[in-house]
This record gives sequence, structure tokens and C-alpha cells, in this order.
Amino acid sequence: MNILKDSFGRRFPYIRLSITDVCNFKCGYCLPDGYKVDKSDNRTFINADEIGRLAKALSELGVCKIRLTGGEPTVRKDFFEIIKIIKKNSGIKKTVITTNGYRLDRIAKNIKDSGLDGVNISIDSLNRETFKIITGHDRLPEILKGIKNLQELNFNNIKINAVLLKGINDSEKDFDQWAEFIKDNEIDFRYIELMQTGDNLDYFNKYHISAKKFTNYLSNKNWIVQTFGKDAGPSKNYLNPKFKGKFGVIAPYSKDFCKSCNRLRITAKGDLRLCLFGNTGINIRHLMQKDNQIEELKDLILKQLNYKKESHYLELGETGLTKNLSTTGG
Ligand code: SAM
Ligand code: SF4
Repeated sequence: MNILKDSFGRRFPYIRLSITDVCNFKCGYCLPDGYKVDKSDNRTFINADEIGRLAKALSELGVCKIRLTGGEPTVRKDFFEIIKIIKKNSGIKKTVITTNGYRLDRIAKNIKDSGLDGVNISIDSLNRETFKIITGHDRLPEILKGIKNLQELNFNNIKINAVLLKGINDSEKDFDQWAEFIKDNEIDFRYIELMQTGDNLDYFNKYHISAKKFTNYLSNKNWIVQTFGKDAGPSKNYLNPKFKGKFGVIAPYSKDFCKSCNRLRITAKGDLRLCLFGNTGINIRHLMQKDNQIEELKDLILKQLNYKKESHYLELGETGLTKNLSTTGG
């Protein structure tokens, strides 16, 4: 079997697939003015059948995990149909999502029943007011209720991500609050370093802070770095026997971050993106139209992988095609 491997020996068992650019939140670092239709691009979002064929091709290329993201993936009316199609026909072993969780309290049961294998929820602060300031929405209580509902249904693979923001959610008190939260909760919590994108330079300059502030806190509190196998991905995790959950850090500006890259991205309009911050994006949607195009689709993806670069050049301020992360799903 031909599997996805680039010229630097990295393998790609994991795809992030954006299924919509639309989002109902206004996170300051991503869509501060809310989602606006891109008038320069009138293509629609890929439909459920196209996604089904894409997933099948990817699984035949050795991909075992697909993360559905966005925008906000759960705003799509056919969200559960998409999960069903991927799970039923494609051979993909794990289907997971990243969501802002805005209707998690209402769809927890459907999530459990859909067979989804994991849910990552973005919660930038456990402080209701801070959460509201960052996202533009006073929805923290519903999101936390959604997590409870999932847990009551014995849905176990729940992770929480927060973007680390200087002066907003980076105090020892914030870290302690999360520690308290994961003490008896089997949930992994990770801080992601704020990334610069084409649209957010001022915000980035004002709020970016190195994840070191958090990792220093973890060392002081006796958290121990977990060592991994080769394909573990970019999150560095920390363990503490007194806590049920784990802490983690995703620090894209750290040295050698790209060495552990194990993911490719596909946008909601069917562009393959080799790197979140790359300048290459080729449309592959025309080969998702019929069942008999799967071999051609696989060939195109394999060929494209030869163009994947060794590293992003984010530390030099090069953000590539990425205006904000709502089109590439973070
Ligand atoms: N709307 C969903 C959500 O927020 O979880 C999925 C899409 S969102 C683009 C995916 C992830 O990217 C979220 O965890 C979000 O916090 C993160 N993100 C967005 N913009 C970012 C940035 N500039 N730097 C770091 N993380 C960012
Ligand atoms: Fe929406 Fe997610 Fe971007 Fe926030 S980070 S604006 S929830 S897409």
C-alpha cells in the first residue's frame, strides 16, 4: 500500500478536515468581527458525499484519524450525517472533532450515539467574564454542562484546549483553576501558544506569550513530562499521579516543532494544505465527485506531498496563506 510519507521521512496518519468556514463565535485572535462571507470565493463547502469519498481515499493512503473542524463544525445541519458517512464507508479508524462546544449540552447524546471517537473543546478561560471577553459570547455555563452531559453518558475521550494570552488567562490563578478542574476529571487540558496569522498581527503583538510561563508553573508543581512514541504529534504532555487529567502544551514557536508534524489539512472548500502556514494549497475537490475517481485522488495527494517543506517559517513572521485559523481549522 502507498502511504502518505514526505521527503523528510514524516508520516501522515492524521488529517484535519475543515467542513465549514462559518463560526458563530468572535474569538479575538481568530474572527474578532465574526464570520464574514468571502466574496472573492463563491465555492460552496464540500458536501457529505464528497467527504465520504475523500475519507475513503485517505484511509487507503494509511490515514487512521480524521479531525473535523472549522469554523465551527457543529453549525452544519448535516454534521451527524457527515460523521455517519465517514464511519460507515471509509475505513478511517478514528473520527474526532474540535468544537467551541456552544451546543454540546444539547447534542451530547447524539455525539455519543454517532460513535465519534473524541471531542476537543476550546475553552480559553474558566472565568465566565474572561470567556465572554475572548469569545464575544456568554456561553461558558452551557459548555461546561455539555461536558458533564458527555461524561454522564460515559463518553470518555474529552480534551480541552485554550489559547494562552498574555495578561488575560496566563496567571498562576488561571493555571490553578485548570489544575483544580482536571484533578478529579479525566480530561486533558492543553494550552496552545497564540499563533500569528495574516489578520491578527496587532492582537498577536499584544497578547502573545511563550508557553514557558506555563511549563515553568508545571515544573514547580512537580508535573512530569510524558515521553512519546514517534507519531505522537505536537502536544507535549505532563503527568502528575495526584491528578486524573493531564496537562499539555502546544508550542508552535519552539525549536523542532515541525519535526513531529504528522498532519495535513484540507479546507472546507476542498483545498489540500500541506502546512498550516505554508504557501501551497491545491484544490483536490474535482476528484471527489465520483466513486471511480478514488485512485486518481490518491495519486494527486501523494504527488502533492513531495512539496511539503521541512518547516514553517512562523518565527520569521511568515504566515503563508493563513489569514485566520477559521479556514484551516487550527
Ligand atoms: N471553532 C472550533 C473551535 O474553536 O474549537 C474549531 C476551529 S478553531 C479554528 C480550532 C482551534 O484553533 C481552537 O482551539 C482555537 O482556539 C485555535 N486557534 C484559532 N486561532 C488561533 C491562533 N491564532 N493561535 C492559536 N490557536 C488558534
Ligand atoms: Fe470560531 Fe473557533 Fe475561530 Fe473561535 S477559534 S472564532 S470558535 S473558529
